[in-house]
Amino acid sequence: MKKTVIVTGASSGIGSAIADAFAMCGHNVVIGYNNSAENARILEKNLLSKGCSVASFKADVSDSVQAQALIDFAKETFGGQYILVNNAGIAQQKLFTDITDDDFDTMFNVNVKSVFNCSRAVLPLMIHEKWGRIINISSMWGVCGASCEVHYSASKAAVIGLTKALAKEVGPSGITVNCIAPGLIDTPMNKHLDKETIADLCEETPVGRIGTPEDVAKAVLFLAEDTSSFVTGQVLGVDGGFI
Ligand code: NAD
Repeated sequence: MKKTVIVTGASSGIGSAIADAFAMCGHNVVIGYNNSAENARILEKNLLSKGCSVASFKADVSDSVQAQALIDFAKETFGGQYILVNNAGIAQQKLFTDITDDDFDTMFNVNVKSVFNCSRAVLPLMIHEKWGRIINISSMWGVCGASCEVHYSASKAAVIGLTKALAKEVGPSGITVNCIAPGLIDTPMNKHLDKETIADLCEETPVGRIGTPEDVAKAVLFLAEDTSSFVTGQVLGVDGGFI
């Protein structure tokens, strides 16, 4: 059955691949974006030209009013049963002692508060339908921690905690809540890494390569299936065996 899929941060990287995968499976897709309106427009145009049902909407999801507007847009444009993919996120590399109050607050507002904002806004619609899927994009660093990315790692660990607790609360309403913990994925988020570092990371990864946005999208599709209704509160690693 056709669902309405809301993907945050869908104008680049993993979010674009997730939006593309759901649209190509015949679902309605809302391409949520904050910056890069041009990328969102290109993705929307490309998918529309293939006969997909998509629409884009600008929202800074760290802001609860804008997150609510994104969900309202999905309801007014498509309606039906909903899948929310909380993908929007930022990263930052800094020594722990150099992290400022602003760095910390911004990291948590974008990576954690956005998940809270969008999930809280969509849940009444899912509860009404007695069906829903919330899929949060955490990180392997949220599971095992990364040096010089303490605030990022902590924010992604918070997403895991939120996922597990919310899964227990909304399971009786037919809603599953899971998260993906990607390893190193080839996206603009990692453009600061030089070739040597990437080669080292490939060597450290049992499958011998870094991941693609499509690797993550396929795992998201699995969690969104009607047939995945007994999988909830889980953290699915998509990291080539790195951790
Ligand atoms: P990316 O930088 O290409 O994409 C992140 C997207 O989030 C961008 O489109 C950005 O505009 C959007 N975004 C940022 N702040 C936002 C806000 N306040 N409101 C709305 N949108 C906002 O990076 P990516 O690698 O595709 O990252 C996607 C997700 O995957 C992130 O949550 C990231 O932490 C996670 N992740 C990435 C990797 C990796 O190696 N690339 C690994 C683990 C987890």
